[in-house]
Parts: sequence; structure tokens; C-alpha cells
Amino acid sequence: MQFTPTNSLLGLSFQELTSLVVDSGQPSYRAQQLFDAVYRQRIETLDQISTLPRDYRAQLGEQGWSVGMPVVSRKFVSNDGTVRYLIELADGETVETVWMPEGDDGESGDGSEAGDEMELRGGPAARRRATICVSSQVGCAVNCRFCLTALLGVKRNLAAGEIIGQIAAVLRDQGVQPPIQRVNLVFMGMGEPFLNYENFMKSVTLLVEGVGIPESRMTVSTAGIVPRIQDFGRETVRPKLAISLNASNDTLRSEVMPLNRKWNLSELMAAARAFPLRPRERLTFEYVLLDAVNDAPEHARELAELVRGVRAKINLIALNPGAELPYRTPAQERMQTFQQILIGAGIPTFLRRPRGRDIFAACGQLKRTVEITS
Ligand code: SAH
Repeated sequence: MQFTPTNSLLGLSFQELTSLVVDSGQPSYRAQQLFDAVYRQRIETLDQISTLPRDYRAQLGEQGWSVGMPVVSRKFVSNDGTVRYLIELADGETVETVWMPEGDDGESGDGSEAGDEMELRGGPAARRRATICVSSQVGCAVNCRFCLTALLGVKRNLAAGEIIGQIAAVLRDQGVQPPIQRVNLVFMGMGEPFLNYENFMKSVTLLVEGVGIPESRMTVSTAGIVPRIQDFGRETVRPKLAISLNASNDTLRSEVMPLNRKWNLSELMAAARAFPLRPRERLTFEYVLLDAVNDAPEHARELAELVRGVRAKINLIALNPGAELPYRTPAQERMQTFQQILIGAGIPTFLRRPRGRDIFAACGQLKRTVEITS
């Protein structure tokens, strides 16, 4: 009989795995075996679950279950070491996931160096500050005018298993094993994580409990979905929060991020101010610099006023160019002037180094480019 496996084990919680095994008359400890195999060992096929009896593996397959590990369909390697993965999902849709071997400068100064002793024990390969940039949706519904992903529109949300699957596939390809080897996660790839909140949060829990990546090594970035920022503040286990501001006043922000007409800066900043930060934790504000649009010294001063009183740092991102975009990247000097004004106002501000522009892997460039000519 011909069948297509549609049920993915990746994405099931421990409780859901327990129901699955108990419903087939198996002892409940098999749930732990499945959980370990799927999340900790990150096996690719049911056959590889050597702790399970052969018959039960076969039975799972007959019931239509598979591991649900997505397939790396293309891989692009930048001359700065960044790798962009085109990842194919069970229904043929694709998303992109980016591996940055040395993280990026914007992550420095946020206290995330505090795990370094573990890296030393893990040996040379573990000393890297690798970061994986993860997608949360196929395409994106938030129509930011400087972002290439926006041009795709949104196809669908990713399931929790598809979010974790990207990380599992990249860790496998890179031969990296948390928690022995340190890895940071940023939910800053394609899509708006807070418009896929349930699946995103489920993936976080499973990444912490199953894969062994602490939530303190994760950052989620939102375009500013205010009600979900409030929900997120109430979560007991949660990544750090980054908010994409990208403009210093409502007129400008509504122009570059039409979403601002729904949740404006005063609502967004009220949510940011009310956000319960943990000891030593800082909020991150991201600000994409667009030449002659939002990068003047008066914008920097306005931005400093806007974020005053919030325990935050600012990541400035030079626009990553795209032929379809109506904006240009500012000159380096202009960006440094902008940065200095914020630093002068007492706000830790970092100018992020662009990663993987040559392979269209940088922020805002994820639109499934398969032909690289330059
Ligand atoms: N939807 C989420 C996460 C994905 S975008 C969000 O909006 O935050 C991740 C970051 O890339 C955001 O800060 C966004 O403002 C930035 N970005 C988008 N397009 C960009 C571009 N062309 N150049 C530089 N940064 C860009």
C-alpha cells in the first residue's frame, strides 16, 4: 500500500509522545526513548532509534509517523564563513536558515560571554561563538519596505517541529552538539515569530528541554506585535527580546513599517517599558539604517529620547541592499556619527557587521535566492 508519512515526531512534546506510545500499547518509558532520539540525538530516520524494538519502529512507520527532519536542499557558503541553508519541508515549501560561525558583533556586550568556561572544556571546536538564525514562517506578512522577505508575502506558519528541524539539520551538517558545544539561536530569519506565537513558544520549550540549548542563548526579534510582547513577558521560560524599531518617530516608522499604523510607537514603547526584564537582562532595539531616510543626527537624538529609561541596547544594522528595495546603505561615517550620538546619550550601541551579504544571507535578504552570480 502506498502512503505518505505526514506525522512528524519532531515537534511533539514529551506528553504527546507519551500518549502516542501508550495508545499503541507500549510501555510509557518508550516516550523518553523517543524524546531522546528525536531531540538529543537528532536521528534522521525511525530505523536509527536503536533503543526501540524493531517491530515498534515498523509499526510507527506503518501508522504514518516519520522523524520529520527537513532536507537541506541547497547550501551557500560566504567568504566570511556564513552559511545559508535552503531547507525543504515535507510539503515542498522552503525556508532559509543561516549559520554564523562567529556570531556577530552586535551580540557582544550583552553578558552572553558568561558561558565561556564551558566552551574551554568543550575543546577547540566548541570555542566558536556560533549563531543560528532561524525562520518562523514561510515568507512574511509584515510588509516592511526595506526587507526582501516581505516581497514573498506569507505562505504559512511553520510547525514547532519545522522550527526545531531547521536547527537540527544545521547542527547535524555542522557537526555541532549542544550543550557540550555552545550555540546561540536568533529567531530573526524569515517571518514574524510573534505572528506564529504558539508554535514558536513550543519550539523554545523543546529546544531547552530536548536539544539542551538554554533560553538565555536565544533571542527572538519582533517587528512590534504589541499584544504578543505582553504575553511573552509572562512566560516563565523565554528567550531574550529584540524589537525592530527602525525609526525614531511615527511618521517615519509608518512609512518604512506599515505595521506601525496598527501598533504605534507610544503603544510599542509602553509595552517595552512594561516588559519584565530579568536581573542583568537588557532589551535589544534594532534599527536598520536607511540612507537619507532615518540616519540623520536628529534621528539619533530622537531615538535616544524614545528609549530613555529602558534598560536596553541598540543594534544598528546597515541596510543590506537588494535591487528591489527603494533604499540605499548609508556611508560608514554617517553610521558611526549616528552610533556616537547614542553612545554619548549613555545607550550601549553596536554597529552590526553584515554577515554573508555575498550569498544573500544577511538580515532582510532571505528570499530564497538560488542563483548567485556575484
Ligand atoms: N520579523 C522579525 C524578525 C525578522 S527580521 C522582525 O521584524 O524583527 C530581522 C531583522 O532584520 C529586523 O530587525 C529587521 O528590521 C532587519 N532587516 C530587515 N530587512 C533588512 C535589510 N534589508 N537590511 C538590514 N536589516 C534588515
